[in-house]
Formats: sequence, C-alpha cells, structure tokens
Amino acid sequence: MANYIVLVKQVPDVSQITDNAFDPVTGTLMRSRLASVINELDTQALAMAEHMRTISGDSAAKIICLTMGPPMAQEVLRYGLARCADAAVLLTDRALGGADTWATANPLSFAIRKIAKDTFKNEKDYFVISGMQSVDGDTAQVPGQVAEELAVPCVAYVTDARFENGRFEFNRIISGGSEVVALRYRPAVITVAKHEYPLFATFGRSRLANRTELITWGADDIKATSIGASGSRTAVIRVFPPGKSTRKCQKIDSAADMARVIKESFAKSDGQGSEATESGPDYVLPGKRPSSFERNFEGLSKDVDDFAFLCEKLRQLGVSAPSQIDDYLKQKIISESGNRIHKKSLEDMLSGLSITEAGYDGDVWVTAEHSDGLVHPTTFELVGKARHLADCLGKQVGVVLAGRGLKSMTQELIWAGADNVYVIEHKLLEQFDPTAYRKVIAECVLKHKPQIVLFAATPQGRMLAPMVSYRCQCGLTADCTGLEIRDRSRLGQIAILMQTRPALGGNVMATIVTKNSICQMATARPGVMKRLAEDRARKGKVIEQKPELTEDDLSLEIIRTEKGTGQAHLDSKVVVSGGKGMQNQDNYNRLLGILCGSLKSKLNTTVEKGASRAAVEQGFAERIAQVGQTGTSIGPKLYVAVGISGAIQHMIGVSNTETIVAINSDPAAPIFRQCDYYMVATAEEVIPQLVEALEKG
Ligand SMILES: Cc1cc2nc3c(=O)[nH]c(=O)nc-3n(C[C@H](O)[C@H](O)[C@H](O)COP(=O)(O)OP(=O)(O)OC[C@H]3O[C@@H](n4cnc5c(N)ncnc54)[C@H](O)[C@@H]3O)c2cc1C
Repeated sequence: MANYIVLVKQVPDVSQITDNAFDPVTGTLMRSRLASVINELDTQALAMAEHMRTISGDSAAKIICLTMGPPMAQEVLRYGLARCADAAVLLTDRALGGADTWATANPLSFAIRKIAKDTFKNEKDYFVISGMQSVDGDTAQVPGQVAEELAVPCVAYVTDARFENGRFEFNRIISGGSEVVALRYRPAVITVAKHEYPLFATFGRSRLANRTELITWGADDIKATSIGASGSRTAVIRVFPPGKSTRKCQKIDSAADMARVIKESFAKSDGQGSEATESGPDYVLPGKRPSSFERNFEGLSKDVDDFAFLCEKLRQLGVSAPSQIDDYLKQKIISESGNRIHKKSLEDMLSGLSITEAGYDGDVWVTAEHSDGLVHPTTFELVGKARHLADCLGKQVGVVLAGRGLKSMTQELIWAGADNVYVIEHKLLEQFDPTAYRKVIAECVLKHKPQIVLFAATPQGRMLAPMVSYRCQCGLTADCTGLEIRDRSRLGQIAILMQTRPALGGNVMATIVTKNSICQMATARPGVMKRLAEDRARKGKVIEQKPELTEDDLSLEIIRTEKGTGQAHLDSKVVVSGGKGMQNQDNYNRLLGILCGSLKSKLNTTVEKGASRAAVEQGFAERIAQVGQTGTSIGPKLYVAVGISGAIQHMIGVSNTETIVAINSDPAAPIFRQCDYYMVATAEEVIPQLVEALEKG
C-alpha cells in the first residue's frame, strides 16, 4: 500500500497585482500587500496524489498534506483537507523563518521522516508529491533537495500517472519531448509540472476540514540540521524592479501596416538580439587594479559610492595604505564625512580595503547537457558565460560531460571556450537517470573543487542542480538571467558570483550570493547568455574520470522516450510559429505555409515554421519544431508568433530575437506585452490579408 505526503505552500497571489502593491520609491513589489493563496501547482500535486490513490484502487492509502510557514499557512492545509487529504501537518516556528531553499528542504525532509515514522510506521512505500515550483520563488529546487536529503529518487516534471501491472508509470516532460518512466524503488519524490484533474471541495469535506485538528510541529519536534537564515546557503542582497522590456509592444491595426513594419524592421535589423541582459564593465581583481583604493566593482551601488567617498578622503589625507590609519585619522574621517560613515562601518570598510584575495579558488565549470551525440545549445551559451567569468578571475573553464559516447562532443566544447573537458563515460549513463548522474557529477566537483558550477535551467539541469548542490553541501540559485563577479569588500568578500534572477512571477528581480559553501552554483535560463563564436584554433584538455557505478545507482526504468524526428531549420533568419490558437493541423500547415512562402520571397531570406509546445501536443507540428525552454531556443531576425499566448516557457526560447511580431485573437494575450508589434485578430482572418499586403507592397 502506498501512502502520499503532499507538500503545499502558501504564496502571494501574483496574478492579482494592483499598482498599490509596488513601493512608490523603490518600485519593488511589496509582498505583504498581496493576498495569500495556495500555490497553483501544489493543487495539481494534490490532484495527482488523489489520482494515484484512485487508479491504484487503494482506498486505505493515506494522503497527508505538509506545509512549512507562519500559522496562517494552515489555510492551505484546510484546502487540502477539504479536497482529499486525511491529515495535515503544519511546521511552524520563528526559528524556521528567513530560510532559503536549502533550509526549507532540510526541515521539510525531517518532517517527512517523522510522518513516515509516526503515521506510516516506518513503512517505506510512500510518495512525496509537490508542484514542480512555486510562483514566489520559481526555483524548482526544494523537491530535488528533499530527495537528496532523504536519499530517495526524484521524478520531476510529471504530467500524468498510470497504474500498470501493479506499479505506477509516470509521463514527464524532458528537453525536446516527453518520457514514460517507472521507479526502481520507493519512497520517491514526484514533482508535478502540469496535471489538470478536477478536484473539488465537497460540502461534507469542507466541514470536516474546518473541524480537523492540524498536527503542529515546531523546530524542536523535527530536529532538522539546517534551519532559518543561519542554516541557509544563499542570501538575497538586493531586490529591485525588473528593467523595462526593450520591446516596443506597438499595436498595429491593419494587415497593410503590419506588412510594412515587418519589411522595415527586417531591413533595419543588424543580427543582434534586442534583450541583452549583461551590463557594466568587466570585473578586475583588486590586485590587478591601478590602486588598492579602487573599489568600483562592489555588488551594491551604495557600496560603490561609500568606497569612492572613503577612498577620496584617504587620498586627500595622504594615506596610501589602510594600515596607516590610526584612531586620530579615523575620527577625522568620521567628522569630515558629516556622519555619512559611522565608526563600525568605517572599520568594516577599512579592513575590507586590506583584503585583495578572492573569496573562492578554483575554476569556473559548466555541466553539459546533450542528447543523441549533440551538445544542448544552452551548454554553449553557459560556456560563453563561464569563459567571461573565468577571464575576470584569471581561472580556467571546465566542462563536465557525463554520459556514454562522449568523445565526439569534446572538441566542439573546447572551440566554444572550454579549457578542460572532464569526461565521465559509463555504460550506465547511457540514459539520463538523475540519481546516477548526480552521483558522478558531485564526485567530480568534490574532487576538482571548482569555485563556480553552472547548469542550464532546462528540465534536466533544473533537476540535477538541486541534487548535486545539496550533495556537495552548496547553495544554489535557480533560473539566473544575470551572472557577474563583484566584491562585497565591506564584508571582506572579494570576487563573489552575483546571481540575479526574476522572482514573484517576474515582478521583481533579486541578486543572490552563495554563503557557507565551498562552491557557488547556479542554473541559468536558456537563450539569455551569449554563445561565443567558435574558435577552431583553441586548444584544451580532455580529462577522463573513472566513475564507479552499479545498477543500484539507477532509480528509474525508462519505458519510452518520445522525441522529435526529422528536421527543422530553426536557425533561419525568420521563424513563423503557430500555437494552439491555430485550431487545427490544416490551418497550421496551410496558413503558416503561405505566410512563410511570402516572407521568404519578399524578404529574400531563409524562413522556417516553428510551434509552441501546445501546438506540438495537439499534433499540429512535429516535436522538432517546438520553440522554447524544452524545445529549441532561437534568435532569428524576425519571429512571428500566431495563436501563441506568450507563456514564459515559450518566450524564453525567443528572447534573443530581434523583432517579435504577434497575432492573437485575445486583446489581453500576455505575448502582447513581450513583443514589438501585434495585431488583435484571428489567424484565419489576418494571414491571407497579410500575405496579400506583403505581395502588393
Ligand atoms: C516544464 C515546462 C516546459 C515547457 N516548455 C515549453 C516550450 O519549450 N515551449 C512552449 O511553447 N511551451 C512550453 N511549455 C508550455 C507552456 O507553459 C504553455 O502551455 C504553451 O507555450 C502554450 O502554448 P500556446 O500559446 O500555443 O497555447 P495557449 O496557451 O493555449 O494559447 C493559445 C493562444 O491562441 C489564441 N487564439 C485562439 N484562437 C485563435 C485564433 N483563431 N487566432 C489567433 N489566436 C488565437 C488564444 O487567445 C491564446 O492566447 C512548457 C511547460 C512546462 C511546464
């Protein structure tokens, strides 16, 4: 008999943001002004637990909801009890507050162990089910870290479950397709990416939910090893509003005008994507700067200003080294600064000035993703970023390449910027099994001790990174859109990786640093970092690793993999993609076909058809044509999206596009806020007109 523990989380309702939720001075979102709701994907996790209990025919199985949060988080437990849960556990304690994902996963795992002991009587046949990610953090890393702490397998990105021959089979999303897998052993963690299964609160259950006494535990009840801010391995150092999109978001009213702007913007394009995220001068280590008083690479702009002020004062006083400063000079600086600098602050800054050594040592690494003998494009983007970071730090770039039949990929990685490729070849790594991969990659990291390890924020990378980082006892920042080296001289931290990512559904940006870790780890979004031009003259080393793996290291049986076949030239200068809004395959082929034909002849360029994941799932297009996070990330001069809503997973695949044109029948379609030109119209109506206008023009 399998039991179920469903992790549920109370989150701010980011779908109902009003203008007064933003701080008028800083422009950042004030979380306290938003209503609290249950995380949407956790409702789907609950539905998955109920679905699994039903299809296994095991009516005696128990579903227990578990949440960690303030006392008001009991609302999400009552939500679960009103639908399908038999009991609910609230983990609440001030000592647990201020936790990052590491210090969230750790106490949750200890609570899960206690539930397994107290309620399941140490019976190992249970599943921990959670939404793949929560809207406040979007990190998708707590479930993987829970799996690592519990030393159990994790099946991520699950969309459905079947019960066949006495066991569960799970459908899950993978890069470029989908997979059906079964678990080799239990307990296990399951994360749900999408499971639309109706789960309603009945009147009777709602009454029961309100009467049920919740099991409430504090930190002392579970005896977790890492809790709260002090047990965390990352810290947010800055929260700021997202930069305004450089997209024009201009409404176009007629097909003739749309034809004109398409032609004009294509003619003007220069082959550079318009949403570059990197900024600022390249970092220089303090020891290589003209003066040790040059502190213009601080992580916070306030610190840049404070150090500029202090160093100018020191120069005026004829001080050339921090060691020359005695109490008299300290007092003089404080009084001359008009109280801008307090004594403690001055002492911190002065001791920071005497530190020039980098806080971390070791190279900058990328964990490579590949399939069918080809390296995933995001890996090359990360190698480009790693090259830049390593050059700033005076270190080398390493790439870890685990799998089977890897030799053919090493050269290309070196041409893309790698100095060393660590090859972990084993027959048991033929297919991606997270438990085996995380073991060999973590071993390689612990052996060679890089200072930074980057993973792609793809389904594979987002699953592997939490497990590897937790195994290496390192903090992890997910889904970064900016990575740069900066100092926190005031704290004596030199050459630290500043990891910037969107949070709260993209409504704020946060800069995060790693702490209490031997290495800084991050996942980075596909399509955000830039791949370097291939340099065939580059030389590098291939370093073979000897992994020790047995069948016991595998956690999954991969039953079926569905991936795209055929060809799609998504590197064309123009890509015209159709979404679910194309309604049927005939529209997709016919309407996009005539539009592609016309663009090809009138712009005299290469044109290819693409598709959203939903269009692929509807059977309109082959999997190979899918654009987006789990499809291909592209950067054409012109992207035309027809009947596509603009989901984040689709849009991050086109962020390097120069001009984005959208056609959608819904005036409130999210894509209209992320494109350059748009028309509110149905595809059937506007495409023939647009083709006619292109031909006439
Ligand atoms: C882990 C994960 C990875 C994912 N990876 C990807 C990915 O790589 N790529 C991807 O695309 N998605 C991906 N998705 C799915 C993504 O979240 C969205 O569900 C998907 O992009 C939606 O596709 P769509 O816009 O075609 O469909 P919908 O969201 O259903 O939108 C259809 C749009 O068509 C419009 N429409 C309807 N009728 C018409 C008409 N007659 N004419 C014009 N417009 C019309 C509607 O107004 C609507 O805006 C992923 C999801 C997950 C969880």
